[in-house]
Amino acid sequence: MVHFVGAGPGAPDLITVRGQRLLSQADVIIYAGSLVNPQLLDYAKEGCQIYNSATMTLEEVLDVIFKAEDAGYMTVRLHTGDPCLYGAIREQMDALDEKGIAYEDCPGVSSFCGAAAALNLEYTLPDISQSVIITRMAGRTPVPPKEEISLLAAHQATMVVFLSTGMLEKLTERLLAGGYREDTPAAIVYKATWEDEKTFVCTVGTLAETAARNHITKTALMIIGDVVSQSGYKRSELYHPAFSTEFREASK
Ligand code: SAH
Repeated sequence: MVHFVGAGPGAPDLITVRGQRLLSQADVIIYAGSLVNPQLLDYAKEGCQIYNSATMTLEEVLDVIFKAEDAGYMTVRLHTGDPCLYGAIREQMDALDEKGIAYEDCPGVSSFCGAAAALNLEYTLPDISQSVIITRMAGRTPVPPKEEISLLAAHQATMVVFLSTGMLEKLTERLLAGGYREDTPAAIVYKATWEDEKTFVCTVGTLAETAARNHITKTALMIIGDVVSQSGYKRSELYHPAFSTEFREASK
């Protein structure tokens, strides 16, 4: 059996209880060493075989999994954040399906949630934005043209941009082309929930200079939208005394 496990955004106690249990039971752990906190490996049992996938190809990862299966071992494939975002899990699952190997996915706290926590931020402030667009710039690997940043920016929803820290001038250009203002609030969150976490609140127009001034070149998320200012919103109806819900009658 193979368990794909979300490691969470960084802090080792932000893995789920289930994820921690699976780590402590695993005979083999293959972890994404570029972003997974190595402290999580302390949960592994003695004698567990540990592999860092940062230096491995998909074929090499699969080879480790297939050998573990032959030996009757349980494997944890540990991905950063939640495996469902930029995790390249589908290609691994397809290969397991082909061999008839059973697997399960244990979710994790994605870094976009860790980044919101770092700023005490609500992405969905009433009257400001009720949607979150998770995306990335096209870089060495492409993004479908219909998801070009300026097209998504036209919605003026909250936007969280992954995998793009090295392309901030271009990101600003695409955001402006899509209709954001230069002074639209933005933030850069570096290594959310790690001990060396850093947060910077800036604007769409100052993303690149903020990153350059603070030597941020990777492991960061960019958050764009008026929610970053944390003001100008309407209070939620759900907790308003004049609003009835399934659980509470409005007071007269
Ligand atoms: N599955 C992961 C994302 C993997 S893609 C998740 O759910 O978070 C890798 C990108 O995620 C990085 O380039 C960076 O943009 C972002 N990232 C991962 N961990 C981060 C963290 N702790 N703080 C800020 N950004 C992070």
